[in-house]
Amino acid sequence: MNTEPRNDKMLILAGKGVSPGLAKGKVFVYRNILQPSAELCEIDRDQIDEEQARIEKAIDDVQRSLTIDAQQIEGQLGKESADIFRAQEAILCSSSVVDQLKKTLELKQINAEAVVKKVFKFLARRFTDMSDEALRDRGDDIEDLSRRLLLSLAGTHAHSLENLPANTVLVADRLLPSDTVFLSCSSTVAVLAEFASPAAHATLLTREIGIPCVGGISKLLETIYTGDIVLVNGTEGTAVINPDSRSLQRYENSLDEVRKCNETRVQESGIKRTMTLDEIEVSVMANVHSREDVDRAMKCGADGIGLFRTEPFFMSSKHLPSDKEFAEFLLDSLHPARGKHIDVRLLDIGADKNPPYLHLPREPDPFLGRRGVRVLREYPYLLGAQLRAMLEVSQQFRIGILIPMVTTEGDVIEVVERMHQLAAEMGVHELPRIGAMIETPAAALSIYSLKKHMDFFSIGSNDLTQYTMAAGRENPMVNEYFIDDHPTILRLIELVVRESGDTPVSLCGELAGRIDVMPSLLRTGITSLSVPALLVSDVKNAIRNTSSG
Ligand code: PEP
Ligand code: MG
Repeated sequence: MNTEPRNDKMLILAGKGVSPGLAKGKVFVYRNILQPSAELCEIDRDQIDEEQARIEKAIDDVQRSLTIDAQQIEGQLGKESADIFRAQEAILCSSSVVDQLKKTLELKQINAEAVVKKVFKFLARRFTDMSDEALRDRGDDIEDLSRRLLLSLAGTHAHSLENLPANTVLVADRLLPSDTVFLSCSSTVAVLAEFASPAAHATLLTREIGIPCVGGISKLLETIYTGDIVLVNGTEGTAVINPDSRSLQRYENSLDEVRKCNETRVQESGIKRTMTLDEIEVSVMANVHSREDVDRAMKCGADGIGLFRTEPFFMSSKHLPSDKEFAEFLLDSLHPARGKHIDVRLLDIGADKNPPYLHLPREPDPFLGRRGVRVLREYPYLLGAQLRAMLEVSQQFRIGILIPMVTTEGDVIEVVERMHQLAAEMGVHELPRIGAMIETPAAALSIYSLKKHMDFFSIGSNDLTQYTMAAGRENPMVNEYFIDDHPTILRLIELVVRESGDTPVSLCGELAGRIDVMPSLLRTGITSLSVPALLVSDVKNAIRNTSSG
């Protein structure tokens, strides 16, 4: 392994830019040293139970660490990124994988390590043989699961990407999602990889974290040494090893230019109203979940906060936060958006999110079970504490309260009545706006009855897609059915916009940030979108170049 800095000539490497941006740093070559060896040993019949128990324990271990990683990533980057780990968990715990491990062990009579390697190699091949690049990349997730299981069987828990020094440029043949959990932009300034396709989950995470990444550099590990200084251009897809003074100067100049250009773009984008080519005004707000996020959203020129997700706050707490703690969190987080339009969502738990302190019962079909408002109706103290906090916050901020996972008129009536009752007890006379998330076909088809009770609607295209297309958003096996711009979804959005009449409607799922479908999206009549903060200015620019008709 190359571990010594090298006094070498400048070298320019070209690859494919998969996460944009510029960076300068010191190389750390990551050779995936934790890839454990899995020697095949034949076992006796009477050892099967023992090996089976080792596999079960490894599955439990890995499941626990995936849950922790998902929670950590959700807090940092939001739900979509965390879903990568939840999808891995769903695969790991699926009955087909568990059965296959068991059957292979019994049939082949080999040790647990060899069983894991065999089964996961077979599963990975099902993906890597596919012609679709996006599906081929899912093979990485399977390989990552295999590596996690083998590490657990070997009793190893450390990861060599923990505690990298500041200004590190990470160099690897390729990264797996579990590696990226340890990446942080405070230490890793860029990633270079021999293999890294734009759709791979690890690449997606580097983009979300905002770390420039260049992939597709052949013979990278033979060319670069730990300790080398390197300039990375993730936009152009180049890396300059041991740059000379002219390259360094050029890099500094480009950095200055990018900084100036970004500031101007964001300022212009934030100040100017966003009009389509046919002069329809569209507001572009941001989806957030923390003060840092709200701050970033304002700097990116967001017109407001279209969705404040409260789950990360509740999920990261060890106990049920009191109404006072929740109110303090909101007051602090919303501070940078004072005076702007803000919609805060009541806790959407159940399904994949079960804070341990609530002891929610296990359900056979969690995504079709008690989730969102259904949980809140079942546990009135949980609803009451949040409404009290939000009523208090509404005295200082123009917030709207969003009810998650609505299906029936009864769902919204109960929350509205409770809000009125609590407001009367608290002596609050000016009530906040209250609205429903439209995330189920039932809600979308009931706008007439819902609008009698609601001040606004927010369409969550992620769940609306899941429940309309009957394709779990966590389940990679049905990715091809999870089509959030499918004509049926656009038709439902159009229906909601039309039937809501004067009641405002916004769209806050991932579809709202898809620049590639902006023309069809705007044709539905929607005039308010809420997207991740970093997409605000791109979405505004796309709208300015699109006609709504
Ligand atoms: C949605 O379902 O589209 C949505 C915005 O809610 P979440 O992604 O938090 O479930
Ligand atoms: Mg949702």
